[in-house]
Amino acid sequence: MDMVTIKINGLSYRVPAKSTVLEAAREAGIDIPTLCYLKEINEIGACRMCMVEIKGARSLMAACVYPVNEGMEVFTNTPKVQQSRKMTLELLLSIHNKKCLSCKRSGNCELQKLCSDMGIDNENRFAGDMPPAKYDASTAYLERNNSKCILCRRCVSACQNQAVAVIGTNNRGFDTQIGCAFEMKLNEVACVACGQCIISCPTGALTEKSNIQPVIDAINDPDKHVVVQVAPSVRAGLGEEFGLPIGTNVEGQMVAALRRLGFDKVFDTTFGADMTIMEEASEFIHRVKTGGKLPMITSCSPGWVKFCEHYFPDMVENLSSCKSPQQMTGALIKTWYAQKEGIDPEKIVSVSVMPCTAKKFEIARDNQSAAGVPDVDYSITTRELADMIKMTQLSFNRLPKEEFDHAMGVSTGAGMIFGATGGVMEAALRTAADILEGKELEAIEYNEIRGTKALKEATYNVAGIEVKVAVVSGLENANALLEKVRSGEKEYHFIEVMCCPGGCVNGGGMPIQPASVHAEYDLKALRAKALYEHDKVQTVRKSHHNPVLKQCYEEFLGEPGGHVAHEVLHTTYVKRSK
Ligand code: SF4
Ligand code: SF4
Ligand code: SF4
Repeated sequence: MDMVTIKINGLSYRVPAKSTVLEAAREAGIDIPTLCYLKEINEIGACRMCMVEIKGARSLMAACVYPVNEGMEVFTNTPKVQQSRKMTLELLLSIHNKKCLSCKRSGNCELQKLCSDMGIDNENRFAGDMPPAKYDASTAYLERNNSKCILCRRCVSACQNQAVAVIGTNNRGFDTQIGCAFEMKLNEVACVACGQCIISCPTGALTEKSNIQPVIDAINDPDKHVVVQVAPSVRAGLGEEFGLPIGTNVEGQMVAALRRLGFDKVFDTTFGADMTIMEEASEFIHRVKTGGKLPMITSCSPGWVKFCEHYFPDMVENLSSCKSPQQMTGALIKTWYAQKEGIDPEKIVSVSVMPCTAKKFEIARDNQSAAGVPDVDYSITTRELADMIKMTQLSFNRLPKEEFDHAMGVSTGAGMIFGATGGVMEAALRTAADILEGKELEAIEYNEIRGTKALKEATYNVAGIEVKVAVVSGLENANALLEKVRSGEKEYHFIEVMCCPGGCVNGGGMPIQPASVHAEYDLKALRAKALYEHDKVQTVRKSHHNPVLKQCYEEFLGEPGGHVAHEVLHTTYVKRSK
């Protein structure tokens, strides 16, 4: 790697020649504050927080976009620099709704932290007119409160990176606001509910639409039987909300917390993931053997499904008809579980904890009511679960490790890896290969499709059939791949698509880490590692060996892909406009 020598605050450093001043300084252990900068997502040098002095330059320079060069001398902390940063913050605060005490992001807000770090003691220095505060709560999953927006545009870039681009800046100057074109509401545009804008936002301007209160009301209603299910990724991220290292698996404490919050049963969506594999593998084999529509594309990710419906409506027949693991678990709670326990499905309140905001959209889709009532009544995010735990004053890190409740708390390692990009495909291959080969295969780790690379391709020989697969995450990548599939340039039998880059572990409902942490750590890789390690130590690692799942087919569903299974576990899609 080409290196150059620069001086930062009077000391010499050898740094990669292609670094920016910000990267070089951070590498040297010197932090430079930022607001609009979000590594690889928004590198636009707009907010002017990262201004530094550079010897010989006439004005201060934005460190996040300024490249290093041989012999450069940088000063990151001079009185001029400090004054500039303070002024920037004071100007931002002059049009900011400074209700920190009740703000959802208080304690995890990059603006609040910088004001505290910089010792801003006169937050009203430039008080004056405020722009009209625009508010959008038109969808089931997201709330925008522009009175807390600092116009950093991180959300805009995140949405563009998802190949959706339904938000941008409206108006100019003092009237500039983030929103949809022509002041439309989010429910009037082709937003896919992914929440990537939320996890990119440094402030409380973007949050998920909360379902905490109705869940608490249900728990407090003695006539209701409240069952919760938790997605695999939640256990790999929840600990971050309680100060634990990124990638800590907190499954045991999470289950204990849910029980103490008052849920009557605590089930694992991983059970539904195993069920998804049984149905999906059976559907795939059926399509291959009968000349059905190929490539078959996974349907676990509701953000991806909505994207496909809006942007590739000609390919909705390629989507697997399987409901997602959330919906399969929900459907079985209100059918098989309700029958076994003798509970009226109308009295069951089915709650899911998901890494995802699109799940809030999915629960209200058509054809997601196997028992005639919604499969899932409320979906909350990992962050909302953390909020509930904090509201209840549980000492999360001191909770004992407890196990899921029986029946739908029993799962396999295959279901666990659903949270990472490539996990659904690997789990499906573990089962499909055994079924097609008619024997128990020893090799069950499909390393070619692991890892956080945007696109992974492989060809496997299964029972004499060459099966070409692709795994893609992030909608920009999915968009590029599907264009090639549509044009015939690429041919596959089976494609896994996850809406969020890296899969559900990086979903829009996961804990929000500041930009400085994003720059240093690969969140998706660390969280995914927790899931793969969990899978590795399981005694049962293939979905078709889940003993409760076998019981469920014997007692209730019949054959995978059979009539009852289809009624309960499969769904339909619609063609939407852009
Ligand atoms: S966005 Fe940040 S600074 Fe603004 S009210 Fe919320 S916590 Fe306070
Ligand atoms: S939820 Fe996703 S698609 Fe919708 S505005 Fe946010 S980033 Fe864009
Ligand atoms: S909504 Fe959040 S991410 Fe978007 S511009 Fe405003 S502060 Fe930045």
